[in-house]
Amino acid sequence: MHNDDPPNWEEQRKMMVQHQLRGRGISNQRILEAMGTVPREKFVPINYRHATYHDGALSIGYGQTISQPYMVAFMLQLLDPQPGDRVLEVGAGSGYQAALLGQLCQEVYAIEIIDTLAERARQTVQELGYDNVHIIVGDGSLGHPAAEPYDGIIVAAATPDIAPPWQEQLTEGGRLVAPVGSQGAQRCLVAAKKHGELGITESIGCIFVPLVGEHGW
Ligand code: SAM
Repeated sequence: MHNDDPPNWEEQRKMMVQHQLRGRGISNQRILEAMGTVPREKFVPINYRHATYHDGALSIGYGQTISQPYMVAFMLQLLDPQPGDRVLEVGAGSGYQAALLGQLCQEVYAIEIIDTLAERARQTVQELGYDNVHIIVGDGSLGHPAAEPYDGIIVAAATPDIAPPWQEQLTEGGRLVAPVGSQGAQRCLVAAKKHGELGITESIGCIFVPLVGEHGW
């Protein structure tokens, strides 16, 4: 390839799936397919677009990030979304993970507290035709009561705890995945709701930007 050739996004996406995801143990076929299909480059600001398929998080402005592809895949695999699910994402950011969920689930509500980011995310998911993805501006630490209950809730910002509204807005049998800990370091938790209570399993360590709002920092 010559330096002035346009990037071959499809090829880069394929390599990302092969090396960063499969190569590190992501095995959920539907998630691998979705990550091999959704054009991540459309969610990355123009000045970082060349680095879209690098193995890391990238700035999306306003001090926020689009998460590392591996981390996105890992958390989605913990969530284990099903085709008929209605899912809430807290921290829509660029809209990338919301688009992935749009491909994996029936209905997606993705809430973002920074209105400019939410507007940009909404435009991108609309342009790509994800009609089942709804980007909402608001404080996701309160969940999104207007569309509850959810079969799954995925939190994409570091949270001090599992906010009570998330537990309330999960269906019986529903699952929540969140990075829980301090502002500097967290652990991914998977919580499954049974008889109204959450059974919690701890997974790998991670570092996310902090959740703000009523139940955040
Ligand atoms: N999932 C996103 C994506 O695919 O681009 C990346 C999310 S980014 C790591 C975390 C996002 O959470 C930021 O955009 C931030 O503004 C948002 N956020 C922080 N606190 C929030 C809150 N209380 N409600 C909704 N969004 C919040």
